[in-house]
Amino acid sequence: MKNTAVIGRFAPSPTGPLHFGSLVAALASYLDTRAVGGRWRLRIDDVDQSRSREAAIAEIPASLAALGLHWDGPIQQQSSRTAVYAEALAGLIRAEQAYPCGCTRREVAAQAERGPAGMIYPGTCRAGLGAHRPARSWRFRVNDTPIRFVDRALGVQTTQLDTEVGDFVVRRADGLYAYHLAMVLDDAALGVTDVVRGADLLPATAPQIALQQALGLPTPRYLHVPVVYAADGRKLSKTNAAAAIDTHQPIPALRQALEFLNQPLPEPRDTLRVDELLDWAIRHWTPSQCMGAKA
Ligand SMILES: [Zn+2]
Repeated sequence: MKNTAVIGRFAPSPTGPLHFGSLVAALASYLDTRAVGGRWRLRIDDVDQSRSREAAIAEIPASLAALGLHWDGPIQQQSSRTAVYAEALAGLIRAEQAYPCGCTRREVAAQAERGPAGMIYPGTCRAGLGAHRPARSWRFRVNDTPIRFVDRALGVQTTQLDTEVGDFVVRRADGLYAYHLAMVLDDAALGVTDVVRGADLLPATAPQIALQQALGLPTPRYLHVPVVYAADGRKLSKTNAAAAIDTHQPIPALRQALEFLNQPLPEPRDTLRVDELLDWAIRHWTPSQCMGAKA
């Protein structure tokens, strides 16, 4: 069944080479999109240019291609979209949905309680900056309406942004646009209908939905898949030097990722090609089984 209206995406941050954790996220999104004949887009999430590495921007697409994970259309890159983010922020400011915050990290940390998504901003600058306090960052003004969405594996999720998250940063003190703002604008620009990503980003979903609503953007469907943890219990990430995928051995890497996602595997045979393995995996893709995977 072809459903070209479905658009999925993989959006890695280019902080290092593709590792097993990012392969799992890429593969889940790829299979989920291809299983319904949708288009799969690739975006390089380099909005945080201080953490981006030029080499990784070239390496990640090459690794995906070597693994048979071919994307549709041009690669989108956040660093080229600053004007779009600026315009959206200006709109939020005009609508009084964003306000300047003069607090330093240390000031917030001294007053804030910790919520599921980090420090809950106590609202210090909500009613205006105090005298002689310069604006540092810009924050999105959340309200007390609960945000509800249905995760395709985890079911109904409800977040009370005002008490669990607080007003969050949309433009950072260093002048960079924050991840939530960039991400919702980029997904909307690509026409993404289905976000499939690691469950470490589950707490990011409600703030992102609140921004979509404020900016008049559609909310995609969400599927969060298990995150790969290192032996020491931390999430595998490019910054804690998870080993790069050996793209000369695509079949073992893909089989391992399928196994991690709790998906069925074809009988091993020496003649199996990468495209055959992926076709098989697309036909047998069962998203509801992902969360049964070892977390
Ligand atoms: Zn403040």
